[in-house]
Amino acid sequence: MKKALIIVDVQNDFCEGGSLAVPDANQIIPYINLLMEDNNYDEIVLSQDWHPANHKSFASNNGRKVGDIIKLNGINQFMWPDHCVQNTFGAEFQKDLNIEKATHIVQKGLNIEIDSYSAFQDNNHFTKTDLDDYLKSKDIQLVEIVGLALDYCVKYTCLDAVANGYLTCLHFNGTKAVNAKPGNDKETIFTLLQNGVTILG
Ligand SMILES: [Zn+2]
Repeated sequence: MKKALIIVDVQNDFCEGGSLAVPDANQIIPYINLLMEDNNYDEIVLSQDWHPANHKSFASNNGRKVGDIIKLNGINQFMWPDHCVQNTFGAEFQKDLNIEKATHIVQKGLNIEIDSYSAFQDNNHFTKTDLDDYLKSKDIQLVEIVGLALDYCVKYTCLDAVANGYLTCLHFNGTKAVNAKPGNDKETIFTLLQNGVTILG
């Protein structure tokens, strides 16, 4: 069986010192590097949040406060601080992540009107990225997922991996949650288990 590792959004803005730093995010990087060394993945995919500066998921572009929720194209949109703006330091992969082994990069969140948590598609399900086609073209059947953040981009990438027919595993030690509300991490794990995602230690 061919397997891929999908590394979600391990970028400066989501790591220590970033504008949307996920608590303890940097702790997962050595674990992810070890995974890449110890496993013969057929493919290693990096996803990269890649927003134009005027992206509508940014509170600053809507005259809102971080944490507000607005309706954007008919769905709830959490208001984030500016983050992962194209061609800025914050959008670069964190330097300790060993990206040499990556075989493919998927950028998401390019459309200013729609946020994109999943590496497979935007939050409105209007546009798919090339991730599913890419993995299918390489005969990938199993995906292992790590990265940031558990309760947003990792969660939706896992759910879409299942929906697209992949055996899907999440590495618990390879992810950290935002936990905007305490307990979001636990709730996310339950949702993933209910939807057929295997949680690896
Ligand atoms: Zn984003």
